[in-house]
Amino acid sequence: MTATLSDLFAFHRNDGLAVGAPDRPWLTYAGLRELVGHTVTALHAAGVGKGDRVAIVLPNGPEMATAFVALAEGAVTAPLNPAYRLEEFEFYLSDLGAKAIVLAEGYDGPALVAANHLGLAVLRLGHDAADPAGSFTLRAESVAPGEPERATARPRDLALILHTSGTTSRPKIVPLRHGNLSASAHHIAGSLALTPHDRCLNMMPLFHIHGLVAAVSASLAAGASVWCAPGFDALKVFGWIEAARPTWYTAVPTMHQAILARAPRNAEVIERVPLRFIRSSSASLPAQVMEALSATFRAPVIEAYGMTEAAHQMTSNPLPPRPQKPGSVGVAAGPQVRIADEASDRLIEGTGEVVISGPNVTAGYEANKAANAKSFFEAEGERWFRTGDQGRFDAEGYLTITGRLKEIINRGGEKISPLEVDGVLMDHPAVLQVVTFALPHPKLGEEVAAAVVLREGMAADEAAIRAFCADRLAEFKVPRRVVLLDEIPKGATGKLQRIGLAEKLGLVSP
Ligand code: ATP
Ligand code: MG
Repeated sequence: MTATLSDLFAFHRNDGLAVGAPDRPWLTYAGLRELVGHTVTALHAAGVGKGDRVAIVLPNGPEMATAFVALAEGAVTAPLNPAYRLEEFEFYLSDLGAKAIVLAEGYDGPALVAANHLGLAVLRLGHDAADPAGSFTLRAESVAPGEPERATARPRDLALILHTSGTTSRPKIVPLRHGNLSASAHHIAGSLALTPHDRCLNMMPLFHIHGLVAAVSASLAAGASVWCAPGFDALKVFGWIEAARPTWYTAVPTMHQAILARAPRNAEVIERVPLRFIRSSSASLPAQVMEALSATFRAPVIEAYGMTEAAHQMTSNPLPPRPQKPGSVGVAAGPQVRIADEASDRLIEGTGEVVISGPNVTAGYEANKAANAKSFFEAEGERWFRTGDQGRFDAEGYLTITGRLKEIINRGGEKISPLEVDGVLMDHPAVLQVVTFALPHPKLGEEVAAAVVLREGMAADEAAIRAFCADRLAEFKVPRRVVLLDEIPKGATGKLQRIGLAEKLGLVSP
């Protein structure tokens, strides 16, 4: 834990390009450093200082990227999803103990109502379209009581508070220190060999760890540039690629799939703007999608494995000339990564729970003793964090995630990895997307089911898809039900949702 977020870019060239956005001049590293200074002054004037929690509710874009870094220097930042409703804002703002909130000038939606109910200081963030991307001014609409602590940030101080994505249960609060974030930023910059010549196109939501660390912080650590799109829009991606001229982008698998679907009519853009690599993380990337993406962009696809509690990255496929293995999340890329017995505090060989230990890993969930007691253990002189994911290493040190422990289907005692069934279904020529899930069963406990989206213009029925599986999977793994859908429900970060799908599809009473 040796650096703060601001330390990441303290010494880059003044005129180096840091943050860009559509139709905006670039913010330089000198400009970014100045912005951090102004922000800290504005925070203090609003009665907010070191240790105080400041929620950020802003549309995705360059201001969100710079506000995250600048606010962490003077206080603790907590970005929230702007799509939340009033009750959610009230819950999250009080859950994380926010003292102040940052809102865009003119915004008067539910986050403001919630902040007023809770008596938070309101800071307004304004920017001019003629100003460099990401630069902003902060104005106090109301001031927090008391004198703020004005000390500068240190590596052990809290920088960021996020909630997990809530894919498997109610989101948990993850506090991350400056040292956690800077370690992870350097890990990522190192595994991608980022240099000041690199430029990331960010389309990931900036209330989630993936965009904040892999796109923004890793770029800043390397003195590289990050160009912030206003969110993800498959229809606009190729226009953004042309405008931003990125050397790489990072996304979740559902985004890659949407981009792939638009690729055939954008072949010229792909030709004109060659990417050095494409990065994928936050959910399992089907091997078929990885191969199609790599062939279409003629660029290596680097699948990495990340989670909120690890300030994002744990493993990553290496860059060429080392091989990228489809279906694998690559080699340890930052923390130590080992396999532990699921039921005891023992490190083992073979298949088991993935555990990590390193400078990027959170010290523990906030206000959640039960989760901390379950998640951490000591072995071989290290403190290990249980990821809740199941995996195994191959002889070359590449990790394969075989599933999330909570998502493993238990069919009368037979354990089935939904990811394995997904992989088989993705080989069916008519299948575009698939999510295998557990269907409650009165005798077996759980039964295998799958939701499938077909490719445009292709046909296949339930019986044909099941027959395809029966040729390739042991009988007990073949989905008893295959539901054809136009779209599979996604979480706020674009992840497909496996847990609760049976209820959502009306296959069981909730
Ligand atoms: P919650 O913890 O609230 O259920 P979540 O785990 O989805 O939500 P995140 O921290 O955003 O919240 O996601 C981390 C998880 O995403 C990992 O634990 C893992 O299950 C999954 N994941 C991330 N990258 C990959 C990958 N490349 N392959 C497979 N799974 C991945
Ligand atoms: Mg999780």
